[in-house]
Amino acid sequence: MRDGVIETDYLVVGAGASAMAFVDALTSEGDAEVVLVDRRHDPGGHWNDAYSFVRLHQPSANYGVNSRFLGTDSIDTSGPNAGYYERARGVEIRAYYRTVLDGWLPSGQVSFYGGHEYVAGGPGEHTLVSRLTGRTVPVRVRRKLVDATCLETSVPATHTPGFTVDPEATVVPVGELVGLAEAPGGYTILGAGKTAMDACTWLLENGVDPDRIRWVRPRDSWLIDRGSVQPGELVAATMEGFAVAVESVAQASTLDDLFRRLESSGLLFRLDPAVAPTMFRGATLSEVERDALRQIEQVARLGRVRHVGSDRIVLDHGEVPTSRDTVHVDCTAYGFANAPARPIFEPDRITLQSVTSGFITFNSALLGYIETARDEVAEQNRLCEPGVQPSRAEDWLDMMCGSHERVRRLTAESDVRAWLDRSRLYLTRGLRNHLGDPRMRSAMTRFSTNLEPALANIKPLLATARPPG
Ligand SMILES: Cc1cc2nc3c(=O)[nH]c(=O)nc-3n(C[C@H](O)[C@H](O)[C@H](O)COP(=O)(O)OP(=O)(O)OC[C@H]3O[C@@H](n4cnc5c(N)ncnc54)[C@H](O)[C@@H]3O)c2cc1C
Repeated sequence: MRDGVIETDYLVVGAGASAMAFVDALTSEGDAEVVLVDRRHDPGGHWNDAYSFVRLHQPSANYGVNSRFLGTDSIDTSGPNAGYYERARGVEIRAYYRTVLDGWLPSGQVSFYGGHEYVAGGPGEHTLVSRLTGRTVPVRVRRKLVDATCLETSVPATHTPGFTVDPEATVVPVGELVGLAEAPGGYTILGAGKTAMDACTWLLENGVDPDRIRWVRPRDSWLIDRGSVQPGELVAATMEGFAVAVESVAQASTLDDLFRRLESSGLLFRLDPAVAPTMFRGATLSEVERDALRQIEQVARLGRVRHVGSDRIVLDHGEVPTSRDTVHVDCTAYGFANAPARPIFEPDRITLQSVTSGFITFNSALLGYIETARDEVAEQNRLCEPGVQPSRAEDWLDMMCGSHERVRRLTAESDVRAWLDRSRLYLTRGLRNHLGDPRMRSAMTRFSTNLEPALANIKPLLATARPPG
């Protein structure tokens, strides 16, 4: 600190999962000093406000920061995730990030300003404002500002719903389901995303009859089969999934044809075979969870909720009846934000975004490594071009096929390849240890035969997208 001004190499705004993975990679590879700021008092971002029954959608084995395991790296033997790598609960994830941060602080290389708001000033001027005292802390940054808020996740506990509620109707955020004092007349789940799926799954697991659940689902999504995104001992299935994906893209004549192929191969699911999904946000389910959710037959597809009344719910395109003794469960928070239209690396700034189809924390760790390993911004951006943040069904093409081109660019660099090999967050790490498995060999051949034709077919397929209806 000089003249009351904190000096640091990197000022990282946000201390969620993205920031933590980035800082871990950056500080593991060098001696750069980091100031980490978050308006929340604890690290871990949105996980601090998640509902109590939340779990990762993906295996713990590939989530968190590279330098510390999350969970026990084991395969579940019972429950809806049986046969797949374990998925941490929210409480475990929150404790994990606190432990990671506490491990960093004693050396002084990383300082944490929890409960502080970041306020941007003029060029090179940064201020942190305590939410408790109002005290301001000026920060001078020697190298770069790191914006780790771009994928900021909105959750029902803290967002403002986009609908009004009659005083006599009961609407609760999903997290309050566990605190209900008595059984209501029925449940209406509001929202189409993974949080809504989690709420329905939890109610069904806890014995609620599917006929007592109504689901207000404005749009349907394509869902990833969890069996096709498994690390470690199950990585051959992941490679087979990659092979099926690129082969399907290479052979498809239209987007409709592509999704037919992906669905018939089992790589993608939809909840209702009679409804064409228009969304893809990377949500992942097991077959057991999918089959459970299909038991819910009361689905209202009349657009978004506008008003929850005491006897009816008003939607964009109509109304459905409800009652005073129904609990309406708000699962309408948008999840992660759209990525900004700016490069990841700039001379004085890094904007964390996803490069590959790998999970968010893997991508952030990769950017931390590239920041330490390459000096030139142009070269950093050549290696790390942002991918599309998935939202529409056709975004599957960039995430699950186009991103292989970006991975190829990265793995052409021997140091990056070596980093990937030691990165526990990398889904297909250790793939070469499975070359004795004929399934793996055949998947790799199928993948490499189809990759070029698939990449060449992305644009023609996108041209067949239907205009949004
Ligand atoms: C239920 C659920 C399950 C999920 N499961 C997975 C999964 O299995 N795998 C996966 O990859 N992703 C999953 N995700 C996506 C999830 O968004 C990411 O994994 C990750 O947690 C996002 O972290 P983040 O750091 O980008 O965002 P956040 O967690 O939102 O963190 C951003 C932080 O920035 C802070 N901030 C913003 N602006 C300021 C400011 N001006 N000053 C100070 N602080 C600021 C916020 O307080 C926040 O803490 C899941 C999401 C949900 C909702």
